[in-house]
Amino acid sequence: QREAEKLDRYKPAITRDGRRVEVAANIGSAKDAQMAVDAGGEGVGLMRTEFLFLQRDDPPGEDEQYEAYRTMVRALNGLPIILRTLDIGGDKQVPYLSLPAEANPFLGVRGIRLCFEREDLFRTQLRAILRASLEGPVRIMFPMVATLAELRRAKAITEEVRREVGAPPVETGIMIEVPSAVLLADQLAKEVSFFSIGTNDLTQYVLAMDREHPVLAPQADGVHPAVLRMVDLTVKAARAAGIWVGACGGVAGDPAGAMTLAGLGVTELSVAIPTIPAIKALLRSVSMADLEGLARRALACENASDVRTLVQGLLARTG
Ligand code: PEP
Ligand code: MG
Repeated sequence: QREAEKLDRYKPAITRDGRRVEVAANIGSAKDAQMAVDAGGEGVGLMRTEFLFLQRDDPPGEDEQYEAYRTMVRALNGLPIILRTLDIGGDKQVPYLSLPAEANPFLGVRGIRLCFEREDLFRTQLRAILRASLEGPVRIMFPMVATLAELRRAKAITEEVRREVGAPPVETGIMIEVPSAVLLADQLAKEVSFFSIGTNDLTQYVLAMDREHPVLAPQADGVHPAVLRMVDLTVKAARAAGIWVGACGGVAGDPAGAMTLAGLGVTELSVAIPTIPAIKALLRSVSMADLEGLARRALACENASDVRTLVQGLLARTG
């Protein structure tokens, strides 16, 4: 019995009515990549590359980054990895970069905006990523994209670096974690291969509640109907353009979140490594028809706790 459960983690997550949802891993280091595979991850849906830049006195150079990315790609042995370019600023501060203090860091120069201010760091990182892409299926993802102009600028720099490195084209996507990106999703979708919804930031920006605020953070629930409606808009725009949508915020690894997101049409959930087997098992225990019904009703709920009650009801019925 135990052995069977262990082996189940390596099988895909297919709902009772035959619909597959990919379950990938969120990782932060080269060591994590092997752990993600061992846990049954079907790839890496989010590698937070900024972790390579934290807790040290200077930024990692091109070769050091290349070694780290190559180790991950090799550990994945043919499974895809999404390397998110530097997402510094906001909650992630890096002392040696001596960035100017900001009154509102979450509304400041963070994510892709910082990469434009420090194009040297961005280009070095892209060189390392593109070199590693020669070893296996690497996808590049830009964080905090708020406008079409930002996406185009990030892509243009990537394309220049790609030619320098002499690497073949790489699939490029963006995080959907800013409300403007949701509202512009039809335009953005025409210029990327995929979206990955960052529910941590999207929740904070949609509800205007700081994700770290001691009083507000507990209310900033990613299954709030306001957030789910943003997910719904994103999926509809992506479908119309023929691209896929994943989710990589904490809500993707929460049972209620995983079920509602899948029901809304998110086809890849990228979650913390230890939760991979449980999320796969959960998806196998339900039908997509039920999840779609759940999602429809969740969109009409008045608050997050009503959404969670709906989920409990469905789980009790399908038991
Ligand atoms: C998110 O915002 O949901 C996300 C996955 O990115 P991070 O938590 O690194 O900001
Ligand atoms: Mg984020």
